[in-house]
Amino acid sequence: MPTPKPRTLNMPCPTMPIVIAIDGPSKSGKGTCALELARHYQFLHVDTGAMYRLLTWHCLETGVDISKPEKVIETCLTWKTELKVLDHEVRLTVNGAFPEKEIRGPAVSDNVAKVSPMPAVRIWMIRTQRECIHFGSLVADGRDIGTVVFPETPFKFFLTADESLREKRSLRKGEVANMKDRDARDAQRKSSPLLPAAGSIMVDNTHDHPEVTIAFMKAHIDYKRAQLGL
Ligand code: C5P
Repeated sequence: MPTPKPRTLNMPCPTMPIVIAIDGPSKSGKGTCALELARHYQFLHVDTGAMYRLLTWHCLETGVDISKPEKVIETCLTWKTELKVLDHEVRLTVNGAFPEKEIRGPAVSDNVAKVSPMPAVRIWMIRTQRECIHFGSLVADGRDIGTVVFPETPFKFFLTADESLREKRSLRKGEVANMKDRDARDAQRKSSPLLPAAGSIMVDNTHDHPEVTIAFMKAHIDYKRAQLGL
């Protein structure tokens, strides 16, 4: 008899998955909270911003004119991508690679909010992000997770912090202007703008240490899981 293959994280999860949705503007602490919650509950982290960044980076690398939506959309239909689990994170890769450092660079930060409002890009991203659930329970952070990507989840948070504090968290020179520009574009775009989802818990972490914010979120999640038997 053949030996059964051990189940790996790259195989679909057999139990009913849970999604914790965390939305909010740049530097609101979403990533820190999402990583810790994913670690605590042994869920997978999905950084949806990284997916928009990857597409922007790929367009810039391959000389796609991002001022022409039809060219970006054509790229969405032809680029060779795959979802892979690495370090407890579901990552979108292109041509088998995840250029972690490059997608955080200034060229991508300055252009990502021009690519992300394109409706066809959002349709592609939303479909891909929903596919992540095949890997298991998730903590997904972004701008439209609770409103559009996983609106059915009962675990929704909207993180905020004062603009002055979010500016302080922006270390790179020129990052403050970039943050303000991206936040304005993300909030004003027609296609799934940054908004708190109905039923989301608003968390202002301006005056709190990340540990306090995370403890608050865990208390809500644990209470709701007990209530819903999840
Ligand atoms: O989260 P991060 O700052 O890396 O996101 C980069 C950009 O990707 C955002 O400014 C936004 O334009 C876009 N984004 C989005 N929807 C998401 C996540 C990110 O439009 N769910």
